[in-house]
Amino acid sequence: MPFGERLKQGLKKWLATAIIATITLTGLGLLQAWGDRVFDATVAALGKQRFLQLILVLLCILGYFAYHRVVQHRKKKLHRHREVYWGRKDSMPYCPFCYERDAKEIHLAGPTALHASKAERWDCKRCYHSYVAAKPGDRFLMRAGRP
Ligand SMILES: [Zn+2]
Repeated sequence: MPFGERLKQGLKKWLATAIIATITLTGLGLLQAWGDRVFDATVAALGKQRFLQLILVLLCILGYFAYHRVVQHRKKKLHRHREVYWGRKDSMPYCPFCYERDAKEIHLAGPTALHASKAERWDCKRCYHSYVAAKPGDRFLMRAGRP
């Protein structure tokens, strides 16, 4: 991913976090200021049982979204093909070792030219594994060790 795009995504994430934090702090402030009155008025209007049901429903909705967010976050955009990982609209593969062991998305460097002209080789600059396919379209075989 180019630096500019990453920066843009980072800024978006930061902005979203800042907005959520501001809303949360404002909500907490309002709750402190009028919490008791709002609570008493709501309980009086709904009755204790309905009020508890409302809280339960809200907690369920919150839990659903939190779970969904965690699952979506875990479900990465990468898919495995030829024993390495690929992103959408991205011609550079990702290191399966780093991805599966450390959940890090590391682009492989390459392809490196080899003497056997049809072979395809990609290297990970983080874990120093290399991935070699005997010919284009073949599965990559992982090789350990520093170059
Ligand atoms: Zn790696």
